[in-house]
Amino acid sequence: MSAHVVVVGAGLTGLTLAFRLREAGLDVTIVERLERTGGQIHSVRDGGVVVELGAEGFVARSEALVKLSEDVGVGGALIDQETTLTYALEDGALRALADGEAARILGFQVKKEQRGQGIRSLTSGMGQLPEKLTEVLSEGITWRRGEAVEAIHPRNAGLNVTMASGDVLEADAAVVTTPTPAAIAMLGAFEAAAQLSVGRRLSNASATLVYDRDRIAHPLDGSGFIVPAAAKGHGFRACSFVSTKFARDLPPNTAILRAFFRPTDEDLTSRDEASWIALAVECVSPVLGIDGPPRQAWASAWPRALPIYDDAYRGAVAAAEAALIPAGVWLAGSHFHGAGIDAAVLSAERVAAAIIERT
Ligand SMILES: Cc1cc2nc3c(=O)[nH]c(=O)nc-3n(C[C@H](O)[C@H](O)[C@H](O)COP(=O)(O)OP(=O)(O)OC[C@H]3O[C@@H](n4cnc5c(N)ncnc54)[C@H](O)[C@@H]3O)c2cc1C
Repeated sequence: MSAHVVVVGAGLTGLTLAFRLREAGLDVTIVERLERTGGQIHSVRDGGVVVELGAEGFVARSEALVKLSEDVGVGGALIDQETTLTYALEDGALRALADGEAARILGFQVKKEQRGQGIRSLTSGMGQLPEKLTEVLSEGITWRRGEAVEAIHPRNAGLNVTMASGDVLEADAAVVTTPTPAAIAMLGAFEAAAQLSVGRRLSNASATLVYDRDRIAHPLDGSGFIVPAAAKGHGFRACSFVSTKFARDLPPNTAILRAFFRPTDEDLTSRDEASWIALAVECVSPVLGIDGPPRQAWASAWPRALPIYDDAYRGAVAAAEAALIPAGVWLAGSHFHGAGIDAAVLSAERVAAAIIERT
């Protein structure tokens, strides 16, 4: 009988793991707290426009994403960023930046050689990849959607994975891909997991605004603009010219903008979707010379969603893994192994290979 592996979380990491483990003939169960898969990747399509509520793309030099997309059958849908020209908002006006300057100003956790290359996505949005993985995995693995894992305990030669419903899954190995607080809670039986609590996380909020193109005075001839610290108000950090950045089919006379914010804890409790949209309109309209309200708008907030990879957290992950892996529990994905989609997939591929080798 093949080994039974429980994958906790069906974001891109969990889906990639399930795909590779199934490919190797292992018996896989994937447990996802929500009905929706994709985690921090969430694309919606409405009225002919693609709206990203989470991630908008992956670093252009990623080989792992190209290989995964091809293996899953969406390689032909990959699209490049049309322009890497970025502006900065200075004294109310936009100044064109040199390559890489934007990443440095925003303090992105991006290596120097990766700056200025832009990102890639898919024609129907970044969500096309997890959606296709979910479809491809509709057979050959066991799904538990809309159910959370509550605890993972050692059991003789294996593990007991306890669901919030009380059901217990017996497993030979488990992979945890959830945000760190959920991982710490479900791994309470393993003392070493508690040290993951040194991890700090950033929050994100964004609003996507769809306008009649002819109501915007600015030529939108770049990927967007960033807001250097000195000019920041209400945590406004950047605005992406989505409809210029990616060449997707659009209804006539359409421009799509996405404003990004770094919310405070108070913002996260006090602001609803309408309030983020109103703030985004207030922030971008004077800069781009916009006349009138957006014709469609969406907003999403992600409280404490993005881990900060400092030395303390990296050390805690390594120490926790040293105790967990011998017991058959693996950590994977961007909550443990590096910021962003490329890091998430690289981690999933590495952990899948290690599990396959061991079982
Ligand atoms: C607003 C935003 C914009 C971003 N933009 C970019 C970008 O442009 N480029 C880039 O590279 N990266 C970006 N990122 C980061 C990127 O989206 C993530 O690094 C990546 O998608 C994480 O994938 P993951 O599968 O590792 O984790 P997640 O996507 O967080 O998946 C974890 C899954 O675990 C589930 N879960 C949680 N608890 C339980 C439980 N107890 N039981 C079962 N399931 C559980 C969750 O519901 C979730 O589906 C962005 C993130 C956000 C929030």
